[in-house]
Amino acid sequence: MTTDLRGDAIKPQNIHADRPARELTIEWADGHKSVYDFSALRWLCPCAYCRGEAGQPGWLDSDPNLTEEQVEFKDISLVGHYAVQPVWADGHSSGFYSFEHLRKECPCPADQARRAAQPSPQVELPPHQHE
Ligand SMILES: [Zn+2]
Ligand SMILES: [Zn+2]
Repeated sequence: MTTDLRGDAIKPQNIHADRPARELTIEWADGHKSVYDFSALRWLCPCAYCRGEAGQPGWLDSDPNLTEEQVEFKDISLVGHYAVQPVWADGHSSGFYSFEHLRKECPCPADQARRAAQPSPQVELPPHQHE
């Protein structure tokens, strides 16, 4: 692994949802700032329904056309110290977005370039993770 996200890098100092601009901004303790477009955030939903589980594809894997309501973000709450849980206008709220996940998917140009330069992280996993 070349990227190590821990400590201040995944500790949010300020979380701000700007509804008119349709952006969620997170300022991290290491000084980095991430701005997520609401619809980009919806595409990042990590819940089992959107992402699938046990090898089954999720709803987002079917490349759906998201409606206005599905990318309209109503509310966000903190889940412990590790995640946020957004509530979408269509009622969907089962996604717990861990700060690590959010920071890893930071949409800023520098992080996009970093992800593009990295080979798929799955390839680096050791072959026997489970006993
Ligand atoms: Zn979801
Ligand atoms: Zn970034």
